[in-house]
Amino acid sequence: MINVEHLSKSFGDNEVLSQITTSIKKGEVVTVIGPSGSGKSTFLRCMNLLETPSGGEITIDQAAITAKDAPVSQIREKIGMVFQHFHLFPHLTVLENITYAPTKVKKLSKNEADTIAHGLLKKVGLSDKADAYPNRLSGGQKQRVAIARALAMDPEIMLFDEPTSALDPEMVKEVLDVMKGLAESGMTMVIVTHEMGFAKEVSDRVLFLDEGKLVEDAPPVEFFTAPKSVRAKEFLDKIL
Ligand code: ADP
Ligand code: MG
Repeated sequence: MINVEHLSKSFGDNEVLSQITTSIKKGEVVTVIGPSGSGKSTFLRCMNLLETPSGGEITIDQAAITAKDAPVSQIREKIGMVFQHFHLFPHLTVLENITYAPTKVKKLSKNEADTIAHGLLKKVGLSDKADAYPNRLSGGQKQRVAIARALAMDPEIMLFDEPTSALDPEMVKEVLDVMKGLAESGMTMVIVTHEMGFAKEVSDRVLFLDEGKLVEDAPPVEFFTAPKSVRAKEFLDKIL
């Protein structure tokens, strides 16, 4: 579904991603792991064109999204993104946060969008918070709303950039559980995370980035029990 070929990205003369080649199948759940500054966020951001790659090609469903004439907004509609810091609209209720893009971008009627939003709130366990404002929610609740908001656009792919890193420890599980459910429902997901338990249990594949290079691309069992590279071994020794 997603094909990445020789993807490179530089900021000035700082090469942040170097010749990344991999592909992700429909329904696959891929975790992206690596030290801080290794290019994980940049990699995700290239996939929905929040960053413009400096070289290489990304195709989604055979369409080259990195082509000069690619329909950027159409591509972004297919790809939901969840960030570390939620980015909810503070002046909108939970329900309005979720219905905003479907009504503005997809031109759904308020009724249609509300129905979808209520369904999604149920799915993330927040039916009782529809009329609350974000500042009344815990971090875990905010992140679950952010996931529901991304899902409201009916994306084909969901990207997560450290979705639990800003959360108090007791709220991590409620968010990971929602993501696990989504994975089980067959969503194609690419997840930057430091949650090694989740990576092991839920992902089909682990990508390990180091200094902008894709050093390992392996099933979790293989990655966690027998990493091939010294860099991955060192990284795992530090965190496990
Ligand atoms: P990670 O998510 O793995 O911590 P990032 O992708 O955020 O890594 O960053 C990789 C490198 O790219 C870092 O050295 C960072 O400083 C640099 N970088 C990221 N975004 C920008 C930007 N917009 N402008 C300049 N440098 C950037
Ligand atoms: Mg990052």
